[in-house]
Amino acid sequence: MSNTKTVFVDGSTGEGGGQILRTSLALACITGKSLHIENIRAARRNPGLAKQHLSCVQAACQISNGKCRGATQGSRILDFQPSPVQSGDFYFDIGSAGSATLVSQTVLPALFLADKPSTITVTGGTHNPLAPPFDFICETFLPAIATAGFCGNCKRIKHGFFPAGGGKIIFDIQPWQEQSHQTINLCKPSKQFQIHARIYIAKLPPHIAQRQQKLLLQSELDIQNIEHVEVTDSDGPGNCVMIRLCDSVRTTVFTAFGMRGKPSQEVISEAVNLAEDFMASGAAIDRFLADQLLLYMAIAKAGSYTTNELSTHLLTNMEIIKKFLPVTFQVDKAKDAYKVSCCLD
Ligand code: AMP
Repeated sequence: MSNTKTVFVDGSTGEGGGQILRTSLALACITGKSLHIENIRAARRNPGLAKQHLSCVQAACQISNGKCRGATQGSRILDFQPSPVQSGDFYFDIGSAGSATLVSQTVLPALFLADKPSTITVTGGTHNPLAPPFDFICETFLPAIATAGFCGNCKRIKHGFFPAGGGKIIFDIQPWQEQSHQTINLCKPSKQFQIHARIYIAKLPPHIAQRQQKLLLQSELDIQNIEHVEVTDSDGPGNCVMIRLCDSVRTTVFTAFGMRGKPSQEVISEAVNLAEDFMASGAAIDRFLADQLLLYMAIAKAGSYTTNELSTHLLTNMEIIKKFLPVTFQVDKAKDAYKVSCCLD
């Protein structure tokens, strides 16, 4: 299956997780280059393709009429050969609590570059630890990429919490307006935030949310209001706490997940610390959005932002993107933040 355009990726590079696979699949679809990836998710406890990653491969095949070899659960090697990406209405069923947002993120970039609008419907987890929760996608990620002309929106049809999953989300994706020559430029920190919190509770005793509310109000953050979302449509139990920093143009969502055996005190400290570290840094965007924006800056061939942390996800994603696209990234330290810029090589 290999040809001269095959890009070889070592999945054990840097962070060594699923993002290397997702970024590689997305860029193979965009560039038309074949992909050979080895050591998939080598740094994870359960290396190789889990259900969510298999769904990413299948989704990439579906939008690009692609062929693949090695797409089986647990596989650590994959060959993927895309054909040109077609817009359309796509349906991906992860069949587990695998993150529906991460599967979506695999195909969004290529569908933005298609000539007509698309929709994607994904069933799986909408609120999973170690993945962008649905709220982050709607309120933080989509508005950030829209600043560079990548316009889409997202609806939640049904909640799906890890480990039961069974949630459903739908994206509407518009073709990228490249002619507007917009690039991502998110460098200036917000001067004034309104701080809101949101507590999700599904199929669990209400006293958990009440305790979390009390702890939130005892934190140093000046929280203006706390929204309680009592979920009744999920297949299984779930709890997460979000701190939302909102200004007139941006919302940044920080999330911590409750789980059996994890005290609420720990859940709240996790969310509060994420928000406080970010606010203290003078950065414009958080560390999660930072790694997720890189691909869009690279597609737009330019852009810059400031972030509070150079995560291994971010640094690894830079290396993978450079394998496919003729771009270079620059990192400059600015007080307590980092400025990340992208330009053509
Ligand atoms: P990986 O661990 O390689 O599968 O990548 C996980 C992805 O999920 C990265 O793009 C992270 O930025 C993203 N992510 C993890 N936790 C969060 C969170 N709490 N909010 C937003 N994004 C997240």
